[in-house]
Amino acid sequence: MDFEYKGKTVEILEGDITRIAADAVVNAANEGLRGGGGVDGAIHRAGGPAIMAECRRIGRCPTGQAVITTGGDLPAAYVIPTVGPVWRGGARGEEDLLRSAYEKSLALAVERGLRTIAFPSISTGVYGYPIEQASRVAIGAVLDHLAGETSLEKVIFVLFGAADYAVYEEAMRQAIASRA
Ligand code: ADP
Repeated sequence: MDFEYKGKTVEILEGDITRIAADAVVNAANEGLRGGGGVDGAIHRAGGPAIMAECRRIGRCPTGQAVITTGGDLPAAYVIPTVGPVWRGGARGEEDLLRSAYEKSLALAVERGLRTIAFPSISTGVYGYPIEQASRVAIGAVLDHLAGETSLEKVIFVLFGAADYAVYEEAMRQAIASRA
């Protein structure tokens, strides 16, 4: 579903992020940029070895930061690996780190002058961040970004499964209503 905000579009979509033809797709990576399961594994499988070759050259990415690589064989031109926090109960800076992961990813896209970017639900898989809370952080960071000066015209949240999709759609409705 599309939502309009400040003249830009936020799309909430159920699907597989490796098939999205955005200028950049964000990867929920780990600090070693060495690949893994979940969305990370899917992106490297679909995108081919060029992405991992660049990740090896970059080396590491601390939690809350982001880097940028080629999109390899993906429909997207770039991959933006970012590292969300592991959930440890919520009092270990998780919210700030998750917000930072989104903000740094958006900033890299703007540095490249990109117009569209797609995010998975960072940290809500193996890293265990409760999705209702994570969705509010993710959407808050994106809407705050879109309210400022940006090259981005469209941000897509790609959710894996109907349950996750419903959580993001509801969080998006509430965020838009509270900002109206
Ligand atoms: P993290 O380690 O940051 O928690 P995961 O990859 O384990 O990252 O999970 C993040 C989210 O990505 C989960 O909600 C998971 O269901 C989702 N996911 C897994 N594969 C894909 C995919 N191909 N496209 C989009 N989202 C995906």
